[in-house]
Amino acid sequence: MSKRVQISEVGPRDGLQSVDRIMPLEAKKAWIRAEAEAGVTEIEVGSFVPPGLLPQMADTAELVEFAKALPGLRVVALVPNFKGAERALAAGVDAMSMPFSMSETHSIKNVRKDHPAVLAEIRNVVAMLADIPFETRPVFEIGLATAFGCTIEGPVSENVVVRSAVACMEAGVDAVGLSDTTGYANPAQVRRLVRKVKAAVGEDTLDTLHLHNTRGLGLANVVAGLEEGIGTFDASLGGLGGCPFAPGASGNIVTEDLVFMLEAMGIDTGIDLAKLLLVRDNIAQALPGEPLYGFTPDAGLPLGFQRAAA
Ligand code: ZN
Repeated sequence: MSKRVQISEVGPRDGLQSVDRIMPLEAKKAWIRAEAEAGVTEIEVGSFVPPGLLPQMADTAELVEFAKALPGLRVVALVPNFKGAERALAAGVDAMSMPFSMSETHSIKNVRKDHPAVLAEIRNVVAMLADIPFETRPVFEIGLATAFGCTIEGPVSENVVVRSAVACMEAGVDAVGLSDTTGYANPAQVRRLVRKVKAAVGEDTLDTLHLHNTRGLGLANVVAGLEEGIGTFDASLGGLGGCPFAPGASGNIVTEDLVFMLEAMGIDTGIDLAKLLLVRDNIAQALPGEPLYGFTPDAGLPLGFQRAAA
């Protein structure tokens, strides 16, 4: 198990895109700055979707520019397609993440593309990036979405996930991650699928899990991933955005609870949890009444709690 884990904060993208209200740009900046100051070293600041589709994400280019000026922060943006990747490149992201839904029905419904069409889009992005020197171009990652099950198809074939991961690597992407978009995953399944995909694409090529807490298994699934050598976990501050399938449940795993678990286990996240717990005030003030989740923020830190690095 790794002694050091990277947490990727996805709240400004995954959280805010599920909230109808638009958080003002200045509030987003304050949130991102406060998390970086608490020690978070990777933040997905937004999504380059057409602004007409998701007005909440219309200021993503401005946020990239702002976040790039913060010291030591890896700035990530989601790109739904080639057009989005062009905009992300122009904005100067450190990494772009494109979702590829393993449920073909979900893919067709969501982005109107079957699997061959998504792979063609991926190849186009790789070709665009190939003209740029490796050291200066953004990293291109694919998030294999609905990898653990789909709300339309139900179970998703593990062979399809493995084959798609291999196809992405053959197309020339830098890394693949697994996303439990629907909150269907359990620890045994996480362990099995991570092993299968790593065996097919290489140990270091799969390093990221995007897990949800829809059924309360988010952190159990993190432990399964840790035990299989995963080094990066996505999470959302306050579980912002909730879960569209399960009212009262967070969607993404809650950053505060994830940091607590890892640090208490002696795994260094680089994050000062006491500082991080204050950051959710930024969200509460900018989006009054928006439900926020997490146990650690309510219970507080245990007496004598020490950071892993201390
Ligand atoms: Zn998510």
